[in-house]
Amino acid sequence: MTAAPDGLPPLAGLETARLDWRRDETGESAPHSTAFDDVYFSRHDGRAETEHVFIAGNDLPRRFAEWQAPRPFVVGETGFGTGLNMLCAWACFDAHAPAGTRLHLVSTEKFPLAREDLARALAAWPDLAERATRLIAQWPEPVAGVHRLWLDARVTLDLHFGDTTERLALLDGRVDAWFLDGFAPAKNPEMWRPELFVAMAARSRPGATLATFTCAGVVKRGLAAAGFAWRKVPGFGRKREMLAGEILEPPVDARRRRTPWFVPPAPAPARHVAVVGAGIAGASVAHALARRGIAVTLLDRDGPGAGGSGNRQGALYVKLAVATNPQSRVYLAGLLHSRRWLEALDPARTLWRPCGVLQLAMTEKEQGRQARFLAQHALPASVVEGLDAEAAAERAGLRVGAPALDYPLAGWVRPAALCAHLADTPGVTFRRGEVSDLVRVESGWRLTLTTGDSLAADQVVIATAELANRFAQTSPLPLQPVRGQVSQLGLPTGVPALERVVCAGGYVSPALDGVLTFGATFAPNDTTIELREADHAANLAELERTLPAFVAALRDAGTELDAGRLEGRAAIRAASPDKSPYAGPVPDAEAWRSDYAVLARDATRVPETPGRHHGGLWISAAHGSRGLASAPLCAELIASRLCDEPLPLEWPLADHLHPGRRIIRDLVRGKQA
Ligand code: SAM
Repeated sequence: MTAAPDGLPPLAGLETARLDWRRDETGESAPHSTAFDDVYFSRHDGRAETEHVFIAGNDLPRRFAEWQAPRPFVVGETGFGTGLNMLCAWACFDAHAPAGTRLHLVSTEKFPLAREDLARALAAWPDLAERATRLIAQWPEPVAGVHRLWLDARVTLDLHFGDTTERLALLDGRVDAWFLDGFAPAKNPEMWRPELFVAMAARSRPGATLATFTCAGVVKRGLAAAGFAWRKVPGFGRKREMLAGEILEPPVDARRRRTPWFVPPAPAPARHVAVVGAGIAGASVAHALARRGIAVTLLDRDGPGAGGSGNRQGALYVKLAVATNPQSRVYLAGLLHSRRWLEALDPARTLWRPCGVLQLAMTEKEQGRQARFLAQHALPASVVEGLDAEAAAERAGLRVGAPALDYPLAGWVRPAALCAHLADTPGVTFRRGEVSDLVRVESGWRLTLTTGDSLAADQVVIATAELANRFAQTSPLPLQPVRGQVSQLGLPTGVPALERVVCAGGYVSPALDGVLTFGATFAPNDTTIELREADHAANLAELERTLPAFVAALRDAGTELDAGRLEGRAAIRAASPDKSPYAGPVPDAEAWRSDYAVLARDATRVPETPGRHHGGLWISAAHGSRGLASAPLCAELIASRLCDEPLPLEWPLADHLHPGRRIIRDLVRGKQA
């Protein structure tokens, strides 16, 4: 497969599985792949086969019962198919694992089932029905990448959509037990290549086990060559033998040899974490940590959602670049993630609405950009679709007068209410206070408040937007404040209802409780937050430019569009120089400048020294005006790294978000701090 300009697999939709439903020996209809001419499972004894081959083959009942570690037990699978194996692993974990332990499932899939096929296939197992319902409800769009699903409070599933070998090369995480599945080697030789076993070995924990239904020579040879010891054990039913095995000394992960500064810090204890800043970035980190059983103190000088996340309504949307780049990948992954995350967090949709977002192309230049974007990316219409003005108008519920890109999964959120909800998560204690100083102490960190009070924590996450680099440790991370003002207008009855968020220069959301929110202004380096009439006037002008017919209807209905009378809110957002968020461990900038000084003279002479960090200090900031799409994913990224779990993003994208990236760039360009 040809890579995208950034060297990763194309950002594209995937072909869904082609199935037919064949009667098996029991006379019942079972899913069969027409592409591979092989079955997903047997209706008669598929469940028992999974239990025998994968669950018992990896000794999971005993290992789950004995699991004590604070990190989750990680099961890795090649070929998710209908999910039967993973649902059985989840059931086995529930039956055997002690309270307080967690399970993390990682599975690859190149041809995801369509949602209806998945539901039909899993209907074969009534005692898995509840689990299947959770899976089906969160089933991702068929887009290449990592899709994180929350199966319940203890069990997470990461679906890595794409080719197994390719996806394992991008996985940042290590596996304790492998389910080596996939259609039979004779029917799917493409997958069972030596590189597959090498990739599995590279992503294994020491002592990781594996089990597979097949004893094919290519599998035995491949496993042995990659460092797995295997043995034949009795197979299931009529199959005489299968393979089980383990790898005691997996190879060292050498993928960051060219970028050793991004080597993550070693995991450290985290019973109590302080999160500084209770906007969407901090509140979502607090939530992510608390659901992992960590006690969190969430601090804010005001309250949850007091800063840039304090608007009553905000757009969950992204703007993707024409040429695929890491930033676009992160934002698309973030949008898909936020959508699933919100659905799991608030199924009643009191805090958000997936009404869809239209990005209007108001100029010829933008129309050209959108056309090139659509030509570049084969994404499914359920994710992004090009519409002419007429079709766009139909979806918006009123005349828009320009063609558009439609993002049906996007929508709007009540950010202030969302932050308050997250701060209320069990395990999170909110504390009002402004942190002035952070000091590393033997047992972790001491935080000093402006009141003189102090607080101890094992680890700290800084999430204070434009103020995030006010601490000595974060001061080398450049951040630009950007003032933004939104306007609010009470709508009279009888005006047409906007059905989608509409973006052009700014955005306008469907009315919430009869009030229309639109804006926002964009004023870099302005840190004032008083409301300005001129900003309201600018928002009104932009609204009229974007939706002239709607504004005319408002006037006809007698609405006074007077900037002097509008309500609204102004707040400061923060941006990094490259406009991607900072999400990860805080680098020790001084150490980096000395360890990597040679790069200033010769950028090809990369030292071996792994990046030194301020141990136990993390940052999630620079989410700009798209924090609803980026912050929840960055929160999962930080919580996953902090808890030594597989990451919800490919490793190059985690590196793209690393807060130290700018230090290296400046060194290479010979710029002094
Ligand atoms: N584990 C599955 C279950 O519990 O239902 C059954 C797996 S099914 C027999 C094999 C799966 O591997 C199919 O879903 C197929 O699309 C997938 N597959 C085949 N080749 C692949 C590849 N190269 N990369 C990723 N998945 C692949």
